[in-house]
Amino acid sequence: MSELRYPFLDLKRVNESYFKEFSEIAEKAIGSGRYIGGEAVDSFNRHLALVCNAPHAIGVSNGLDALRLIFEAYKCMGMLCEHDEVIVAANTYIASILAITHAGLTPVLVDPDESTFNLSAKGIKSALTHRTRAILLVDLYGRINWDNQIRQIVSDHSLIVIEDAAQAIGAESEAEGMYKSHKAGAIGHAGALSFYPTKNIGALGDAGAVVTHDQKLASTVRALANYGSDRRYHNIHIGFNCRLDPLQAEFLNIKLRGLESVSRRRIDRANIYSNLIINPLVRKPDHPINPEESVWHQYVVRIDADKRERFVDHLRSHGIATDIHYPTPPHLQPCYRRQFAGQSFPLTERLAAECVSLPMGDYLNANDLSFISSAINSFK
Ligand SMILES: *Cc1c(COP(=O)(O)O)cnc(C)c1O
Repeated sequence: MSELRYPFLDLKRVNESYFKEFSEIAEKAIGSGRYIGGEAVDSFNRHLALVCNAPHAIGVSNGLDALRLIFEAYKCMGMLCEHDEVIVAANTYIASILAITHAGLTPVLVDPDESTFNLSAKGIKSALTHRTRAILLVDLYGRINWDNQIRQIVSDHSLIVIEDAAQAIGAESEAEGMYKSHKAGAIGHAGALSFYPTKNIGALGDAGAVVTHDQKLASTVRALANYGSDRRYHNIHIGFNCRLDPLQAEFLNIKLRGLESVSRRRIDRANIYSNLIINPLVRKPDHPINPEESVWHQYVVRIDADKRERFVDHLRSHGIATDIHYPTPPHLQPCYRRQFAGQSFPLTERLAAECVSLPMGDYLNANDLSFISSAINSFK
């Protein structure tokens, strides 16, 4: 990977401008004598709540745990029960599905809309049953999965709306969320964010957060993430240890300040790719009408399945790494073969065979983008 001129994502380049600040804050944290919780985590929580325009944000260990804590908290609150159905896009990352099944809930998979790669109102409607209690909306590739039609369905059917915003921090929906926030993570009743190093805002290790408008959910998640205790040595739930590391909170507090610029630069870069790539064999992603609806966690093109390997090799021969998000959808993974036996999701399967993610990062400059686009255009 590293011998390539363009690795898929150059994390060193992503974080380079923060090295000095990170070192100083790390040194202070090492000398502080306090290594769990504390002001760093509290200030991260306040900062993130502001960013998402929601009353509560709770830093946790990672994005998967954020999702799991939300589902577990709804079970503690008696609002979800084992075997309740949760509608979710079939083309999502496995973590979305893991969180649902870890909680003993039943994922009901639906093919996405071909233009957005996300769930459509029509798709959601087709999957509703008398056991549907919740919907997990995944903002795939950084594009927010929300509009007024979806809003109407969830209110008609009183669904709990959980957002997997792991890829979408900073995105802003045109339509108002359930509680008036337009921001990714704060669209539904609760949202999960990830700060895995490759995400738009990445820590230097694992980190995640739960964002919610529901005070009861917030206090339940807080307790569940800390052994189920509401105060020291008093356990009201059968909890977990999913706390956010304060050192990661320090790094994230620094990086969150740059969120707007990161999002703007990613939108610019996606626009440049879409202007420069003109190869008829390569299908470019649709852009949302309102550009702020996507923060382009990935820029994903499609190419006929039988040409994909040759396309990837062609780019590699030009020193350009690509990735595939995701080569095998959850319902075809060995661990879920039984759960989804006999089910097929034709569009999801086709996307898995055709998609290619191009290098994307706010550090890419005009030369980088024009070099990569030329290589794409020279593919025959
Ligand atoms: C990254 C990601 C997660 C999980 O986040 P982690 O911090 O890696 O646990 C969940 N859902 C989606 C869509 C993701 O991209």
